Amino acid sequence: MRANQANQASGARWWWAAGAAAAFAAVGSASAQPLAAVPTSIASTTTSEDSAGAGCPEDTVFDNGACVHLADAIDDGPVAPSYANMHHEPSGRLSTYEQIPKLPERPADYDAYRYPIAPGLPGGHYVVSGYDLDRPDAAQRRGRSLRHVGHGGVDLPQTKGAPVRLVALEHQEGPAEVLYTGPLFGTTVVTRHTLREGGRLRDYVVLFGHLDSIAAGLSPGATLNDGDLVGAVGNTGSRELVHLHLEVRRVRDGVDLARVAAGGQLVAEVVSVVCDPRNVLPLREAGR
Ligand SMILES: [Zn+2]
Repeated sequence: MRANQANQASGARWWWAAGAAAAFAAVGSASAQPLAAVPTSIASTTTSEDSAGAGCPEDTVFDNGACVHLADAIDDGPVAPSYANMHHEPSGRLSTYEQIPKLPERPADYDAYRYPIAPGLPGGHYVVSGYDLDRPDAAQRRGRSLRHVGHGGVDLPQTKGAPVRLVALEHQEGPAEVLYTGPLFGTTVVTRHTLREGGRLRDYVVLFGHLDSIAAGLSPGATLNDGDLVGAVGNTGSRELVHLHLEVRRVRDGVDLARVAAGGQLVAEVVSVVCDPRNVLPLREAGR
């Protein structure tokens, strides 16, 4: 369940890297304000068959008696702001970190989303342990002795060897790119996804942890489309439970991923900010 055992050796202590996290939390939270809701589309107020708007120039639509310019990227997702939070590590040390909580308009129900594996729980459910870094310190305690604290992803139980397939994120442009394969949260694959959000492109990284094996031929630089094989579910680095640890992180502005070679650096606070995966996972379609 706790996904960091294999990460200890990398030196990237990610969400409880208190020193670096606190420094960046102070910077990152200063300007982080929730954005006003963005209309999903102004195009819904007009139609292409609208005879009154037939004379509107390209890149404009007829709306309320006038030709109005389409806003850039009107169907983009909103930009999720990041916030500082803190918790006590098992050692008792208070750790401050930055994280991106679920946007209020996104469904809270984990079963509303599409995942890289088939549901592994009775009733078609997926998640045994969800994202909790947005919660108060005491609400992050988990595990048999309640000593584990802070979970930056979702844990998806499955049988060992079950296929893990790439899921293209919402507002993603182009295929995902493999950034790293190897030890991190157990055997791990890290992919980069470029999303159009708020009228600009942002990179996210997705971590597939505790894999039993990595798909044949998969190595950094490979591209993956929705449904492509990433690997097989396992329990590497997590002897307690065979499951996929799925984690999403937004890459910080100004970070050149081409210069971030080591897997551990990809999850360092200076490189990426942990994000509630429900902000970017695609919603399930009926019957899918
Ligand atoms: Zn996990």
